[in-house]
Amino acid sequence: MTKVLVVEDEAHLAEGLRFNLQAEGYAVEVTGDGESALKRLLESNGRFDAVVLDVMLPGMDGFEVVSSLRKAKNFIPVLILTARGRPEDVLEGFGAGADDYLSKPFQLPIFLARLQGLLRRNEWLRSSKRLRQKPRRKRRQILRASAKRFPSRERQSISARLNSAPNATRFG
Ligand code: CA
Repeated sequence: MTKVLVVEDEAHLAEGLRFNLQAEGYAVEVTGDGESALKRLLESNGRFDAVVLDVMLPGMDGFEVVSSLRKAKNFIPVLILTARGRPEDVLEGFGAGADDYLSKPFQLPIFLARLQGLLRRNEWLRSSKRLRQKPRRKRRQILRASAKRFPSRERQSISARLNSAPNATRFG
C-alpha cells in the first residue's frame, strides 16, 4: 500500500488530509513538527512513498526538512503544501529540494492529482531500475504490472474527479 507522511501542525487540516488521502486508498501517518518528520523519514528508510510537507512548523521549518533529507541522500518525493505562496517562497522550496509546491487554499482534486503525479514518476523510475536488472523476457511482464498500478483514477473523467469531493474543493 502506498504510504504518505503528512507533516502539518494544524490538527484540523492534518486530519482533513488524512481523511481524504485514506479515502483515495493511501496509508497515512501524520506528524506535527519538522524534527520528528525528519527523524521518521531518515530512520524508516523506504517505508514512505511520499511526503506532504507544510513550511511553517514549530522548530525546524519545512524548507530545512527537505534540504536535510536531500543532504542525507534521501530522495523521497516531497510535495510542499503551504500558506506561503509568494514567488520567493516557491523558489526557496524548489531550491531546498522539493519536487512540487502547492499553496493554500488549494483544490483537493488538484492536490491529489499532483501527489499522484509524483508517485507515478517515482514508480516509473523504480520499475525502470528493476527492469534493467532483469532478463529480457521478464521485462514485458514487469512493464504490464506497473502500467496497472495507476489505472482507475486516471480513467475517471475530469468532471467526476472534481465532483468526487464537493465539500472540499476549496481546502485549507
Ligand atoms: Ca503550519
